[in-house]
Amino acid sequence: MTTATAKTVEKVHRSSQRHWVGDGFPVRSVFGYNDLGRELSPFLLMDYAGPHTFAPAERPRGVGSHPHKGFETVSIVYSGEVAHRDSSGAGGTIGPGDVQWMTAGKGLVHEEFHSPEFTRKGGELDMVQLWVNLRARDKQAAPGYQSLLANQIPKVEVRGNGGTVRVIAGEYAGVRGPARTFTPMNVWDMALNPGGMAQLEFNGGDTTALFVRSGTVTVNGATASASDLVILSRGGTQLNLEPVSAANLLLLNGEPINEPVSAYGPFVMNSEEEIRQAYSDFRQGRMGSL
Ligand code: MN
Repeated sequence: MTTATAKTVEKVHRSSQRHWVGDGFPVRSVFGYNDLGRELSPFLLMDYAGPHTFAPAERPRGVGSHPHKGFETVSIVYSGEVAHRDSSGAGGTIGPGDVQWMTAGKGLVHEEFHSPEFTRKGGELDMVQLWVNLRARDKQAAPGYQSLLANQIPKVEVRGNGGTVRVIAGEYAGVRGPARTFTPMNVWDMALNPGGMAQLEFNGGDTTALFVRSGTVTVNGATASASDLVILSRGGTQLNLEPVSAANLLLLNGEPINEPVSAYGPFVMNSEEEIRQAYSDFRQGRMGSL
């Protein structure tokens, strides 16, 4: 018999002050590939937009045409509505509870705006965008989308009236989430009740981090509040979450990709030469256009 050991808290990382991405997304940088890319592999970057209330408007706010290559973007919407379209002709709208898992792979050009209806009515925007790296051999994958709608994402009760876990990717308590991923990972959207407790178990050696969207929670003895990212040791397997107040959390866990990372702006590759090539391909229109 082996005894499971608790992961230790490596650090509690605080998000940046808000800055705007385009005119539609007031984001806090939770982490980026320049500061924590190695520790958090395969996760590269996370921006948390909101909550922010927009007045009704006529012209959709957002980010115009821009490229991506070599990774995946995962947009998780809690409130508001976001519409996108890209150079392959694909597009769509996601709203509260929905997730868009986009594979940029070998490269695309897209735009991200508030949906026409959300623009017209106004209201609260609250969403996360997470970037997930791809192995070198997957960076040439064809661009693709998984629209994971709220009703396709299983919601599992935490024992003892502890709250709920929405399984976006991976598996919780034997229930699998709908996202297809290139490498093994868990992405869970958790809502924990005060006084409850969630005991989680992961593979030793994996990256594990917990972002607190709201509330306060104790994670293996360390206390974290809204906008904090708790980074756990790769060693150990157990995570004990004890909410001090009702808490909304995003849990990231995955097998690290142990390959060189060369990243610049919207491109994440394995060498500087590949980054130069990506810029050249984009400028010459080889990633398409809108
Ligand atoms: Mn983008």
